[in-house]
Amino acid sequence: MPGLFIDVKVDPEVAKDAGIAAKLEEVCPVGIFVAAASGVEIDEQNLDECVLCDLCIEAAPKNGVRVIKLYES
Ligand code: SF4
Repeated sequence: MPGLFIDVKVDPEVAKDAGIAAKLEEVCPVGIFVAAASGVEIDEQNLDECVLCDLCIEAAPKNGVRVIKLYES
């Protein structure tokens, strides 16, 4: 996977929702979410830009988005 430090997972049911896709695209300050015709897509080139702001988690239904740290802090 291209993201070395962060992975973002979107629940498949949530990923299909165009309204949530638009919201995620709007809230993420580093452009990780793309609102495509089919729903949420992740721009993997931007994954490592994640600033762990949790705005995506707040914008999605409970457990809809998970931001996973792939390193030990
Ligand atoms: S935590 Fe913030 S920067 Fe990271 S994916 Fe979510 S909205 Fe984007």
